[in-house]
Amino acid sequence: MKDAFNQTYLLQVLEELLITPSPSGYCHQIMEKIKKMVSHLGYSMEYTQKGCGVITIPGAKSDYTLGLSAHVDTLGAMVRSIKSSGTIRFTPIGGYMMSSIEGEYCTIHTRNGKKILGTILPIQPSVHVYADAKNLERNESNMEIRLDEAVSSKEDVENLGIAVGDFISFDSRTVLLNNGFIKSRHLDDKAGVAILLGLLEWLHRTGIKPQYTLKVFISVYEEIGHGASYIPNDIQELIAIDMGAMGDDLTCTEQDVSICVKDSSGPYDYHMISHLQSLAKENNLSYALDVYPYYGSDVSAALRGGQNIRGALIGPGVHASHGIERTHINGMLNTLALLSAYIQNGAPTIV
Ligand SMILES: [Zn+2]
Repeated sequence: MKDAFNQTYLLQVLEELLITPSPSGYCHQIMEKIKKMVSHLGYSMEYTQKGCGVITIPGAKSDYTLGLSAHVDTLGAMVRSIKSSGTIRFTPIGGYMMSSIEGEYCTIHTRNGKKILGTILPIQPSVHVYADAKNLERNESNMEIRLDEAVSSKEDVENLGIAVGDFISFDSRTVLLNNGFIKSRHLDDKAGVAILLGLLEWLHRTGIKPQYTLKVFISVYEEIGHGASYIPNDIQELIAIDMGAMGDDLTCTEQDVSICVKDSSGPYDYHMISHLQSLAKENNLSYALDVYPYYGSDVSAALRGGQNIRGALIGPGVHASHGIERTHINGMLNTLALLSAYIQNGAPTIV
């Protein structure tokens, strides 16, 4: 079943998405790229007011609408202030450990379109100079950005065009290995967006019609909590495609499609989960049912936003999430195969 999908396309799209900066709140450029990718496949994408994308694919029947969402926004940061030393104090966007971005190369995106490079460091960055460098707590006030420019004052930095409120993106460090592993920042949730584009490529190439109207929703602002708080009103059920959590007592690996039964926002829809599980079994897909202890999804945002839907959450296993993440092409293909089965087999029976 997994052979039906175009792996080359999937990986090309994934890489292109991963290397395009899109911290939450700064997604307009990547959304234009996605709009072009979608139109190359013969579909069109419309924007909601806050910049999410909606792609409608007609189904064999039009009396039911299934939504599939993935978020393209990622972790990042913003310039909070410019220090008198010529370094940048930043405020985080999204939830991550400061230790996971220490040493990372980054880009400051000024409002007039300049890109200025830098490195994220603790304020005591050298063991040869600071006695407590090793023990310094890695928290927001103890971290700063060293710009790769000859600056030594606040004025020097301002003269570069950098100002409070400029977005900061982290280098993704994307590596696609021959054995199928993919390591990169931001696999959460660009792997999910690539899977949805892979699904569109498959629908376009094969001419297969989903059983019901399909609305693919590309959300922005998920990492800060309200991504899919609004979705088109005709969507009756929503599957969020987002990273599968791994570790501790969870059973998912990077090779599997993870079906989330419950996360911090509570249990997902009983009937949809049962339907997804039986489709995974019938199609011999490698899958795991897991409870994610600290997690919320676009389905959680949609339900909190008052949407009248049922929801589920699936996705490829991603190790070390919100850090230096890793997944595997098999996890992506298992997710894609499960979605393709779901859209051809209609809504679950409600008893
Ligand atoms: Zn995510």
